[in-house]
Amino acid sequence: MPLSQTLKYTLRHVAKRNPWVLRRCAELISRERAHPAMHRVRQERLLANILAHARSVPAYARAAAAAPARDGLAYLRDAFPIIDKLSLRAEPERYLTGGRLPGRHAALLAETSGTTGTPLDVYRSFGSALVEEAFHLQSWHWAGWRPGEKQAVLRGERVVPIAQRSAPFWFEDPAGAQLFLSTRHLDPDTVAQLAARVLSYGARQLRAYPSAAYDFATLLTEADIELRFDTVITGSEMLYDFQRERIESVFGARVFDHYGMAERVAFAAECELGRMHVNPEYGVLEIVDEDGNPTDDEGTIVGTSFFNRVMPFIRYKMNDSARWNHEPCACGRTYPVIEGIGGRLADQLYDIDGRAVNGTVIGFAFDGMRNVHKGQVIQTAVDRWTIRIVPTSNYRAIDGERVLAKLAEQVSARVRAHIEVVRDIPSLPSGKYKWVVQTLDRRPAAPKRRAQSRPALTAGLAV
Ligand SMILES: [Zn+2]
Repeated sequence: MPLSQTLKYTLRHVAKRNPWVLRRCAELISRERAHPAMHRVRQERLLANILAHARSVPAYARAAAAAPARDGLAYLRDAFPIIDKLSLRAEPERYLTGGRLPGRHAALLAETSGTTGTPLDVYRSFGSALVEEAFHLQSWHWAGWRPGEKQAVLRGERVVPIAQRSAPFWFEDPAGAQLFLSTRHLDPDTVAQLAARVLSYGARQLRAYPSAAYDFATLLTEADIELRFDTVITGSEMLYDFQRERIESVFGARVFDHYGMAERVAFAAECELGRMHVNPEYGVLEIVDEDGNPTDDEGTIVGTSFFNRVMPFIRYKMNDSARWNHEPCACGRTYPVIEGIGGRLADQLYDIDGRAVNGTVIGFAFDGMRNVHKGQVIQTAVDRWTIRIVPTSNYRAIDGERVLAKLAEQVSARVRAHIEVVRDIPSLPSGKYKWVVQTLDRRPAAPKRRAQSRPALTAGLAV
């Protein structure tokens, strides 16, 4: 393995898993079951800190300067407008501390994947990167991880050069006890080598993009190779139910999904009971309706980050939707719970009448599909969807017809869909995968009156 890469990861771990981060993680865990009022007190304090800092950020300065000493959460919603990626792209400097780009070595630069066609440069303070690690370690704990335990990783890291055609398609990070597998090299020809390496490495946990874990599971099944994990931690993309089912059954593992983003405005993770807890110590997560008001129905996620001092995000709107679930969790953690996160890396599809089709529903079309290695739904016209399928060797036309039948039955019978069998559907440059692609540049016109009622399974569609 290249020495420089080993050195890079070793340094990264020395920096990121230092005693301060580990202590911080332990503190987070110790407060997980505190009374909700305690979480609120803590949130108010963290919010007051970031609002005090935001006085030096031009876009927020005026509202931040007038922030009261108490009840910052209520003030936040009243005084700060909701912003989004477009606001930041229009005037990036106004959202940076001091109104200017940080020095070259004063911040970390990340870019959002830009799946909506608008990538965004995100600057992060070093401190926020350390805090981030503590929250991740906490969520790994929920999934049974303990320090020193080995993980296999199938995410976006550039593990080996893309053009490389022979093994190794992996990289071992001894300091972090992680075996990075190259998501970009995962295919029928390499799957046996990758599985053998994971086995010899002894990883009991897999950390992966949902699409990559699903892909790995499918290829292993195809090749009749058994590979087991205790747990699989997924994140960074939407996890569909059909993916979870296959990942859990093939690996014999429990999936723990988590919700985070490049902008670092919110963090939520699944507990042992499969409920998605929003971490109140990470930021403020709001769910708002189309007018920006709080809602208990499905709404858009808006987040405020507590820790990024270079580019604080205050009331930043994600392209994701979710809803609150007020039922306390039997795991005992008192963090709020959200459910039905949708829209991650999925472009918005529309029915003929202009109604938005929830991305999670697309999962129904592929649910239980057989002999299909990968799939993608593309809206090519108001009334036309193309269903791209990468077949496995056992694929027959009937398998594609089943997908179409499910789509007609459970998503929309009015949209004409056809199957296009392709050799591959490439991932995005980040290694993430899109199940849904929208090519229309505007939403079809809505009808004058509501269309007739829909089949029961689509009752939960976002409209
Ligand atoms: Zn729970």
